[in-house]
Amino acid sequence: MSKKDSLVLRVIMMVCMTAFIICIAVTGVGSYMIHLANELGAKNEVQYAAHTLYNLYNDNFHGEYYYDNGLKKGSAELTEDDFKEIIRNIGQAGDMDFTIFWENTRMLTTLHDENGNPAVGTKASEEVVEQVLNKGLEYYFSDVSVNDVKYVGCYIPIMNSSAQAVGMVFAGKPLSSATRTTNTMTVFFALICGAILVVALIVTFLYSRKMVVALGDIKGYMTNIAECNFDSEMNDPTVKRLDEIGDIARSAQKLCSQLQGLIERDPLTGLLNRRTCSKKMDEMVKSSKIFSVVMADIDFFKKINDTYGHAAGDEVLTGVTSILLAEVRKNSGFAFRWGGEEFLLVLPEKDLAQTKAILDVLIEQIRAAEFHFEGKDIKVTMTFGGVQRDSHETYEQSINRADELLYNGKQSGRNRIVME
Ligand code: GH3
Ligand code: MG
Ligand code: MG
Repeated sequence: MSKKDSLVLRVIMMVCMTAFIICIAVTGVGSYMIHLANELGAKNEVQYAAHTLYNLYNDNFHGEYYYDNGLKKGSAELTEDDFKEIIRNIGQAGDMDFTIFWENTRMLTTLHDENGNPAVGTKASEEVVEQVLNKGLEYYFSDVSVNDVKYVGCYIPIMNSSAQAVGMVFAGKPLSSATRTTNTMTVFFALICGAILVVALIVTFLYSRKMVVALGDIKGYMTNIAECNFDSEMNDPTVKRLDEIGDIARSAQKLCSQLQGLIERDPLTGLLNRRTCSKKMDEMVKSSKIFSVVMADIDFFKKINDTYGHAAGDEVLTGVTSILLAEVRKNSGFAFRWGGEEFLLVLPEKDLAQTKAILDVLIEQIRAAEFHFEGKDIKVTMTFGGVQRDSHETYEQSINRADELLYNGKQSGRNRIVME
């Protein structure tokens, strides 16, 4: 598996992509909202400042505006010193510019031209003239060039007694100063989103790592099962998980035990089959000092099939199994279905005499048993060949010896126990 296929990486990528998109959206929408709020604030600010300037002039100088070798109002000439003094009286005017126009010409202004001189005598743009002087309307704009600098500003017309616009009052703020808060807030938003992204990354990494560890556990377990290693176990935390991964782990355990049953047990009798014999026998060889091996075979079983049918034969096989198993278990032994109607019995820590005593009981139980099938009573006998394992031989050799004795028992008339 290449690194880019790692589940942790994929989950992290997925979460981070989503978080990133959300962050971009939040930053974008947030900044836009702040921008709108700032624009509205700036509009109110410049409108208020323009009206205040207009009103302060009306309060301080009575009469109409007119031009006569300089801008005049009533009997007074409007000087630059008065202009500066009045502007000082306007609150929050620190970063604003003001102008008083006669018609479209700047008469008194805080604006400067490119040489740094007061921009007196320069003209308003055609659009402003059209809206304010010609139409007599108040005019607000959020992005216009005044002397090559972008401004948020407000023009209000100066009306004479015949309701004609003869001049304008302007208050404006450089766009850069109006949008400063927007930019600061955008950076702030971006930083917060970046921090959220980092936290999301760490949390996802830790969380998905736990998931991947559990999945790795299940994968190891399933690999062992695929190799028929049914002793494999999963870690407790994986099996006890309450999520879908826990469900998969528990299903895998179930699957394993079902599979183990199918592979290791004979479906008709439920006995361990020949395939599992070697594992058990290896254990026996390792753990027991002595043990006996018995081969047991039903006599003339073919005849039962022929006489009563295969299903009756099956019934006899399961009945015989119950008798064998009960006695063998009583003696802490094992029984395997070796072939069709042939069984291998293993009796741990039993010598020949003890084994003979057990087989005596068994042969009598089989002789006495009646198996019932579709109203018919079926009786069978069995022949047994038993040996005690010689510590120098392999278990296969013990089985072969028992098989030879069974053969001898068949040859010498069946329904008997043959031991060395
Ligand atoms: P012997 O006394 O020499 O053992 O004779 P036998 O008839 O028991 O032995 P033989 O090997 O001739 O026949 C065994 C029969 O067991 C043949 C086979 O059809 C039958 N058999 C094998 N497995 C099953 C099974 O699962 N169910 C049934 N009903 N019959 C089976
Ligand atoms: Mg037989
Ligand atoms: Mg046989």
